Amino acid sequence: MPEQRVHVVPGGAARAVAAEVAGLGARRLMVVVSPSGAADERRVLDGLPVAHWHDDVVQHVPVLVAERARAAAARHDVDALVCVGGGSATGLAKAVALATGLPIVAVPTTYAGSEVTAVWGLTEGGRKITGSDPRVLPVAVVYDAELTRSLPVPLSAVSGLNALAHAVDGLWAPHADDATARLASQGMELLATALPQVVDDPTGLPGRSALLEGAYLCARSFAEAGSGLHHKICHVLGGRHDLPHAETHAVVLPHVVALNAPGAPDAERRIAAALDGTSATAGIEALWDRVAAPRSLRDLGFEREAIPGAVAAILPAVPASNPVTVTAGELTDLLLHAWEGAQPT
Ligand code: NAD
Repeated sequence: MPEQRVHVVPGGAARAVAAEVAGLGARRLMVVVSPSGAADERRVLDGLPVAHWHDDVVQHVPVLVAERARAAAARHDVDALVCVGGGSATGLAKAVALATGLPIVAVPTTYAGSEVTAVWGLTEGGRKITGSDPRVLPVAVVYDAELTRSLPVPLSAVSGLNALAHAVDGLWAPHADDATARLASQGMELLATALPQVVDDPTGLPGRSALLEGAYLCARSFAEAGSGLHHKICHVLGGRHDLPHAETHAVVLPHVVALNAPGAPDAERRIAAALDGTSATAGIEALWDRVAAPRSLRDLGFEREAIPGAVAAILPAVPASNPVTVTAGELTDLLLHAWEGAQPT
């Protein structure tokens, strides 16, 4: 994997981004920001040579949105990309980098973790296609916890649980090993402490900083271990059914843990220890209740009638590394329980 510089600078994003831009020798920046991009986010670029602000950002990166962004990059003759925002802004910058090879400086404002991976994703005709390419890995990441203070509590909670899902799913992913598991444990422990802190004190810097650090460690473990059953399920739900990313992860994860943990004793022990539960499932239940996480796919707009089609799309993608054998019947039950918001079994 190519090198990536990581800056952890509460309140210091502008300076760190300026140093990275100077290091690249960039003179015409394209800045990708979420449409809700707060004034704070825009101030990160104060004094820098911005040739184009681009806020035509959509979750799961529809191909047409990617094409418009690539055309804008060419029209404005940009020589580097800076993304300031959630995983959707990072994902769009990656789509441009994939086609152009332009370097990315990423300034994440959620806990999605996309900035740590070389994975790109595009959606077309209800299908999400992903791939891995070293050109899309940001050359530098700037973590400034102050920029995350405006993220509303419900979004912070689901985004933090999305981060947790990286660590959990990485425990049974194809390239998991002791090193990725240790990273996952450290990340999960940080998240378990920081998530309630942020819910109780959304603008408090210690909680926000710990949440970003935990999300980074979880994303690192995921970037190295690869994607497990949980991501294969959410990938289909997000791409095919256009469900919101972080919320979908929050709803589905307890069900995947209930299915897989009995066949994965080391993962079970690590999740339970990190979340301070008598079991992995008990730890997850307590944390989900504590942060008032969403529980039902129905509430996210998923239709019960869509379950058979989703099962058919997920089944061929189940990784061989999954600790338990997964049948169409089990996937159907899992999605039905998640749709109802039932207790995971
Ligand atoms: P998002 O980027 O869509 O952000 C969610 C909402 O939060 C948006 O409305 C955004 O404008 C707003 N927001 C972001 N930061 C804010 C802040 N600080 N204050 C106030 N509002 C803010 O959602 P996400 O969950 O961060 O990212 C989801 C996308 O990222 C999906 O498309 C997913 O596929 C992708 N993703 C990719 C990878 C990868 O490795 N390739 C990993 C994780 C997620």
